[in-house]
Amino acid sequence: MSAEVLVIGGGLIGSAVAYGLVKAGLKDVLVIDPDLSGEWSSSELNAGGVRGTWSQTVNLELSKASIDFFSVHAEQVGYRPCGYLWLHRPGTWDAALRSREMHVRQGWPVEVLDVDGIRTRVPFIDKTSDLAGGLFGVRDGLVNPNRLKEHFREEAMREGARFLDSSYFCGADFASAGKVTADVFRFASGLSSAGKRELLSKNPSGRDGFSKEEGEWIRVETDRVVNAGGAWAPEIARRLGYACPSQPVRRQISLFHARELDLTPYGMIIDPSGVYFHPESIYGLSGFATPGEKPGFRFDYDGDSFFEEWIWPSLYERSTAFESLRHVSGWAGLYEESPDHHAIVGEAFGGSVPGGRVFEAHSFSGHGAMQSYAAGRALAEKMVTGRYQTIDLEPLSATRFRDGKAIPGETWVI
Ligand SMILES: Cc1cc2nc3c(=O)[nH]c(=O)nc-3n(C[C@H](O)[C@H](O)[C@H](O)COP(=O)(O)OP(=O)(O)OC[C@H]3O[C@@H](n4cnc5c(N)ncnc54)[C@H](O)[C@@H]3O)c2cc1C
Repeated sequence: MSAEVLVIGGGLIGSAVAYGLVKAGLKDVLVIDPDLSGEWSSSELNAGGVRGTWSQTVNLELSKASIDFFSVHAEQVGYRPCGYLWLHRPGTWDAALRSREMHVRQGWPVEVLDVDGIRTRVPFIDKTSDLAGGLFGVRDGLVNPNRLKEHFREEAMREGARFLDSSYFCGADFASAGKVTADVFRFASGLSSAGKRELLSKNPSGRDGFSKEEGEWIRVETDRVVNAGGAWAPEIARRLGYACPSQPVRRQISLFHARELDLTPYGMIIDPSGVYFHPESIYGLSGFATPGEKPGFRFDYDGDSFFEEWIWPSLYERSTAFESLRHVSGWAGLYEESPDHHAIVGEAFGGSVPGGRVFEAHSFSGHGAMQSYAAGRALAEKMVTGRYQTIDLEPLSATRFRDGKAIPGETWVI
C-alpha cells in the first residue's frame, strides 16, 4: 500500500490529524489502527470534559480553538456548555484567581464565586466550611467523545482519507530515499475484546509475535508518518527509531446513583480533593487520579474498593445528598502522561529518525479530547506549509526536554 501520510493510531488525535490534513489540502492520508472502534483507547474511555481553564496559555489556546469548533458543530459532537465549577480551599485560592486573570485576558469567561455564590449556583453543595471560593468556566462543558471522533473521521473520509481497521504498526525503515516503509500486521478478522486487550497490553512487535493463521504482513510506503498512538506512543516511537519520554498511567472512573438528586442541570464539578464528577445519563460519573499509580498498560477497574476508598468519602464530605450513594459500575483507561503534563506535538527527532519524515501528536496527559481539533489543525499546518499558522505549538515540541526549554508544568490537571 502507499499513502502520502501514514497516521499511526486512529483515536481522537489521529482522526483529528487526518481531518486537519485533508482540510489543509493533503488528501492521500491513511490511518491505521488494530481497533478503530477503540474499545481500549483513551478516546473511548474518557470523561468527555472540555475546558479553557488552565494555568498555561498554550493549553488555553488549544482548548479555546477546539471548543469554538465544538460549539459550531454542537449537534454532531454533543457539546453542552454546562460549565466547570472548580472549588478551592484557602491554600489554592490566590493562585486560582491569578490564573483566572489570564483566562479573562485571553478571552475565556470565568466567573468568581464566593461561598454563598457556590451554594446559590449549586444548591446541593451544602458542606462548604472548608471552601474559600469557586471559579466557574462558563463555556467549559462536555462533549460526546465518540461522536466527535466519528465526526472527524466522516469529514476526513469525505475528502479522501482512508481508515484501515485491524492494522497494527510494528516497525519502519528509512532506506528508500525520501520515503518511510512501514511494516504492518493486518489481522484477518476483527479481534475479540479480550484479543484487543491482550494485544494492547503486551504490545508485541517482532515477526514472531504473530502467526500466519492470524493474518498477513503488509508494507506501507509513505512520505511521512505521524505517531498518534496515545498511551502507546512510546512503543510506536521506539519502533520508528526514537525515544519518547511519556508513560501510560491507569485512571479509573466510577458511575454512581444519587437516589435523591438529579445531577442533569449541572456540569463538571471539581472538588479540592481532586475528585471530579458530572452527570452521565441518569447517573453521576466521577474520577480521581489515585496516588502512586505505577505506569503500565492496566485496564482493570478496582470496583467497590476504588469507589469506597477514593470517590465516596470526598463526595460525602461535600453534600448531604451524597451521604447515601449506590456504586453502579466503572472502568479504567490510560492517561498518556508526559513529564510536564503538556502534549508533545511537532516533528520527531533523535535516534535514527531522518529529518522531515516523522511527526507526532500524543501525550495529551488527560486532555486530548478537548484539544483534539486545534492540535490536529496545527500539526497539519506544520506538515503542509512548514510552520504553524493558527496556534504556535513550537513550545510543545519534544525538543523542550532535550534543550532544557520546558514550559512551566501544567497545574490545573485532574
Ligand atoms: C479516565 C480518563 C478520563 C479522561 N477524561 C478526559 C476529559 O474529560 N477530557 C479530555 O479532553 N480528555 C480526557 N482524557 C484524555 C483523553 O481521553 C486522551 O487525551 C485522548 O483520548 C487521547 O487520544 P489519542 O488519539 O491520542 O489516544 P487513543 O484514543 O488512546 O488512541 C490511540 C490509538 O492508537 C492505537 N494503537 C496502539 N498501538 C498501535 C499500533 N502499534 N499500531 C497502530 N495503532 C496503534 C490504539 O488502538 C488507539 O486506538 C481522559 C482519559 C482517561 C483515560
